[in-house]
Amino acid sequence: MAATCKACGAPIIWIETPNKKWIPCDEGLVPYKQDSAGPEAVVTQGGQVIRCRFDYTGFPTGMARVPHWATCPDADKHRKR
Ligand SMILES: [Zn+2]
Repeated sequence: MAATCKACGAPIIWIETPNKKWIPCDEGLVPYKQDSAGPEAVVTQGGQVIRCRFDYTGFPTGMARVPHWATCPDADKHRKR
């Protein structure tokens, strides 16, 4: 579901998780490497939240989206609401 961030105006996409939670994500897909101890998290197109890292060697695990609160310049507003 395409939408716009109310805080910064960036185009975002809402992805539904298997638990029926909706997560706002950045529009573009990024390659990631799955890593249970990784510093980042991505949301797959199926709604799975996966711990990962973006700095890695070798092939990526796949393509997924970054949760928008990780990149939003007004992320504080997300937390207050
Ligand atoms: Zn935003």
